[in-house]
Parts: sequence; structure tokens; C-alpha cells
Amino acid sequence: MPAIRRQFASDNYAGICPEALDALVRANMGHAVPYGEDEYTARACDMLRAFFETDCEVFFVFNGTAANSLALASLCRSYHSVVCHHHAHIETDECGAPEFFSSGTKILLAGGDEGKLNPGEVEDVALRRADIHYPKPRVISITQATEVGTVYSPEEVRGLGACARRLGLRLHMDGARLANALATLQVRPAEITWKAGVDVLCFGGVKNGIAAGEAVVFFDKRLADEFDYRCKQAGQLSSKMRFLSAPWIGLLTADTWLRNAVHANRCALSLHDGLARIPGIRVMFPVQANAVFVEMPRHVIERLHGMGWRFYTFIGEGGVRLMCSWDTTEQDINDLVRDVASAMEG
Ligand SMILES: *Cc1c(COP(=O)(O)O)cnc(C)c1O
Repeated sequence: MPAIRRQFASDNYAGICPEALDALVRANMGHAVPYGEDEYTARACDMLRAFFETDCEVFFVFNGTAANSLALASLCRSYHSVVCHHHAHIETDECGAPEFFSSGTKILLAGGDEGKLNPGEVEDVALRRADIHYPKPRVISITQATEVGTVYSPEEVRGLGACARRLGLRLHMDGARLANALATLQVRPAEITWKAGVDVLCFGGVKNGIAAGEAVVFFDKRLADEFDYRCKQAGQLSSKMRFLSAPWIGLLTADTWLRNAVHANRCALSLHDGLARIPGIRVMFPVQANAVFVEMPRHVIERLHGMGWRFYTFIGEGGVRLMCSWDTTEQDINDLVRDVASAMEG
């Protein structure tokens, strides 16, 4: 089979990183107890508790949509609502799963610059109405790093945590790219999660270098009550759980997660520098994680597609989204920059 050409369309085009694959192969030697009662899952959960420096409840589900939807469902009743940014993955890219799994919880949209939720706007939405006809606000949900490749500072997360507490709401974090945010901020994971007011985190491993298995981390352990039943009912309880959890051991050992994220972020900066030098290319957002968003003329986009490049143009505020991953190479970056330059000239 011919190898698919390398792409920047998403960080999930990349495969499994060697450390995670090693851990997966080791977990495949012999038998193990099913449904998460195995030693690999226990070890991965302990490593996540050490990572966050707190005693939290951890569950592994197959993907990020399930993690977000089930986490939000566990925070909400059917008549509640979740306030998030209008670019949020839970609003734009989960096919209504958060509403479905919570039996009707409504998503309420707020704004904020550079893909980041503005606390003032959250407050406006949450306090707009207090009567029985309005879906009762229950959760603020933020994405770290954001859908447009920016990163909330620790102060900004703390500000939203304080806003949630003031309004009597819970704070959920979609951390599909939390590793990239941590690599940029260089703070301890606790600083931008539970210490900043996050109650439940969906921690992504897939975009960081594993095949499947996102971690749902409850910092307020009471909120995890019966979450195992919710996972089972939703078809998210893996019988061979060790194959979701063991790769996390690979990511969390010797800072593999950080090396992967630092690499992807550096590649994004380098891609940014290459593209920004091309006349007529406009960069749309500060590059703070592993994404570069650029505006280019329609005919240039078509030419690049004709050359075999794949990328999305409908994420965030439009424009071309280019994602770097743990295995992006300098050659990949040079190839794309060269083709963009020639498509702009041609
Ligand atoms: C990729 C991603 C997810 C998870 O998506 P799945 O395809 O369901 O695994 C969640 N949130 C954000 C912001 C993402 O980019």
C-alpha cells in the first residue's frame, strides 16, 4: 500500500509515537483482567494522579467527543445549560453529543477574542435570565489550547474559575491539546487545572501521540459518582481497557508527552515563520500551540488542494487551519512553505 502523503490537516493524521506503541506492545504480553480492573489501568490512573499532584478520579473513554459529552452529562440535568465559546468543539464538532448524552442540556454561546471565553460575556449569558423559562446555567466549558491555537494564561483560567464560583457554576476543560498548552506555559499541570478552579478535565492523549483513549479526570471526586455506569451505557467501557490506558503510561513516562508537545509547538512556530514571509499571506491568530491559521486567496487554496495538500477551511473563523504533530518534520514544513509560495506566485 502506498504511504499517504504527509499532511497538516490535523494533528490526528500522525500515527502512534514509539513510546506509546512500546507500552501498548508490552501490555499485549499475556492476559489481563478486563473492564479496567487490570494493572496497566491502575498504573496509568496513578500516574495521572501524580501528574496533577492530587487525588482525582480517572476514567478512559475511546475519544474526545465521548469524554466531553459524558463529563458534561455528569455535571448537568436535562434542564441545565453549558456556557462555552462559539468556536468550542462541543458546539461545532460533536454532532449534538453533549445535548444527546445529557438528555437535553442546552449549549449557550458566548464570545471572546482569539477563541478564548471572556468572563464578562459569560456573566451576561449566565445572568441574562433567572426565570423558570430559561435553561438553568450549570457549567462553563473552556478549551485549552483553544480551537484557534491560542492558550489561556493561568490568570485567565483562574479568572474563569472565579467567575464560575461566583455564579454557582462548574468549570469543565476540554483539554484535547492540554499538553500543547502546558508546553507553552511551562507551569505545573495543577496550576491551570484544579488549582485554577477546573472541576472536570477531558485530557487528550490522541493528538499527543496515542491511538485512542482520552482521560476524563474528576478533580471534585463527588462528581464522578456513577460515572462508570454512564460510560458503560454510552458504549464507552472498553473490555480490553489496558489498550486504552497502557499508552498513557508511555506518554507519562520520562516526559514523552512534553517532548511531543514541545516538538509540535516548535514546528508550528517554524511553519508560521515560513508562511509569514510569503507576500499576501495573513496569519489570523497568535501561534501559541501547534496550530497556524492563515488567510489566502480562494484560487491559492484550490491550487494547493490540486497539489495534494489537505486542510480544513471551516474551523474557527474560517481561513486555512494547519496543524503540526509530534512527528512533523522540517522537510514537511519546507515542502508546504515552498508549495504555498509557488501557488501564490502562479
Ligand atoms: C480533536 C478534539 C476533540 C476530540 O475529538 P474526537 O474526534 O471526538 O476524539 C475534542 N476537543 C477538541 C478541541 C479537539 O480538537
